[in-house]
Formats: sequence, C-alpha cells, structure tokens
Amino acid sequence: MRFIGIEEHYRTAAIAEATASDPYMKALGARGREVLSRLEDLGSRRLADMDAAGIDVQVLSHTLPATEQLDAATAIPLARDANDMLAGAVERHPERFVGLATLPMSRADAAAEELERSVTTLGLRGALINGLPQGRFMDHPSFSPVLERAEHLGVPLYLHPAVPPASVREAYYGGLSPEVSHQLATAGWGWHMEVGLHALRLILGGVFDRFPRLQIIIGHMGEGVPSMIWRTNAKVTQRTTKLDRPVQDYFVQNFYVTTSGFFSSTALLSLLLTLGADRVLFAVDYPYNKSEDARAFLEAAPIAQADREKIAHGNAERLLRL
Ligand code: ZN
Repeated sequence: MRFIGIEEHYRTAAIAEATASDPYMKALGARGREVLSRLEDLGSRRLADMDAAGIDVQVLSHTLPATEQLDAATAIPLARDANDMLAGAVERHPERFVGLATLPMSRADAAAEELERSVTTLGLRGALINGLPQGRFMDHPSFSPVLERAEHLGVPLYLHPAVPPASVREAYYGGLSPEVSHQLATAGWGWHMEVGLHALRLILGGVFDRFPRLQIIIGHMGEGVPSMIWRTNAKVTQRTTKLDRPVQDYFVQNFYVTTSGFFSSTALLSLLLTLGADRVLFAVDYPYNKSEDARAFLEAAPIAQADREKIAHGNAERLLRL
C-alpha cells in the first residue's frame, strides 16, 4: 500500500534564525538537536528515513514557527526563499516530495501573491499556516485575500498549531510547573483546542459562505472537533448564525483531517463517523513523530481495507492532484 504523509516538516536556516526566540524551539531541549538536524535535511537522510519506514511521499511544509508572526519586510523575502528552496527539493525528487508553501501572513495581499506564485510557477500544492498569524484567527476580514486566492487556485490551506499567545498561556496554562504548563499549552492540549476553535471560527465567521469551494486541512484527528461538533451544531443554530448551512455541514464539506501524531483507534473511528473516509488523510508529523509508528497504526486500525487505502494515499492524490 502506498503511503503519502501530508504533514511532514522541514525548515530553512534563515527562518530558524529570524524566529529563534519562539518558545517552542527553545523548549525542544536535548531532543532538539536530533529533530533539528532532520528538519534541515531535504535529501539523503530524509529519504533514508522514508525508505526505512515505508513512506512513499512526504508532503513538505515549513515547521512552526514560519513567517506568520514576522513583519512584512522580513517575512516576504524569507517566505519566497523557503518556497524556492522547497520547490528545488521537489524538483530533485519528484516521486518522493510534494510541497506546501509558506506565506508572509503579516501582509495578506503579499501572502496571496506568494501563494499564487508558489502554485502556478513553483508547482506547490497549497500552503500551511502555523498558529494565529499576527495574533488573529483567520476569520478576520484582513485575511480574505489569502482565502479568496486559495479558493480561486483550487488549493487547500493547512491550519497547523503554534504556541498560543502569551496572554492565553498565562490565563489558561499558568500556575503549573513550567514544563507541565508548556506541554499542556502545546502538544498536550492547547495547540489542538486552538486549531479546533480556529476551524469553528472560520465556519461561524462566514468564511465558507463567502468562499464555498475553499478547502481547509487540520491535523491531529480533527483537533477535538469530531467529538464536539454535535454539540456546537445543536447549540449554535442557523437562527443565530444566519449562515447558509448548519455548522456541521461546513465541517463535513469544507475540511479534510489528518492522522498526524495521533495514533489512537478511538480517535480515528470518531473521525470516520463524523467525516466519512473520503476526507481523512494519513500524516506522520515528521520528524516530531516516528514514521514507523504512524504507518503501523494505520495498517492495524480496525477499518475496512478500502478506507485504509483512501486514507493512506487515495484522498491525498485526489485533493493535491498528484
Ligand atoms: Zn506538524
């Protein structure tokens, strides 16, 4: 069975330097050096890891943080260089790599232009955005040019977590040991609740009434949304929202969800019962997770073989036109 991982990361030295104060990279600690060396390899070491784990294709995106929080004068050239570098790696290994662009989100018009250049000139297949760009959820009207361009180009946007704003970390995750607070604010809970909320805010902010063909990808088995969407759908009704469709319809029609870094059959079955098998995508979240674990999980998951094939490669081939 072919395996296409859709949330697989790299980083450029220039973006790493420009974002060196980010709390996540600082907290990686001793484990960091190993992870960072894998992030920076777009050649033989990465391919060897993929071969050893039976991963056929990595859909590559810049790790958190990318250029989302940087000012435009810094972000525009850094994003451009990263996308050029990524396109170069894809060109060298077209059977093994696919790319998602990095965007200079502090200027939405420039981000929309870079998305278009990345797709039409460089052959990338969409973009990945980490966290809340400039501290805002993307239902904010200032981001409309990016959403509109993605819809126009027919490419998905991947909403990936990043460290929550300092005020949120303090109010929600403060008062615990620094290590516990950091883990709870990020991979242990906070990342996922924030991206889940981001998804709901795009829906409730009317983004998909304005851009009905826009497709958003979220990771980690749906960032908590599959287990909560019944409740949101029941309590935030069209009488209040004035939207064209019920909340759940947008989630089912405008979102794809990946298995990145979340190897639980309970979560996978909840996701499949919510979205169906045509909108679930395999992902490892390399190099933060082991490709072997992700592959073994999907191979052993208690689902139909036809659904396993869709998740492992079929849905990604269709969505990204591979
Ligand atoms: Zn990731």
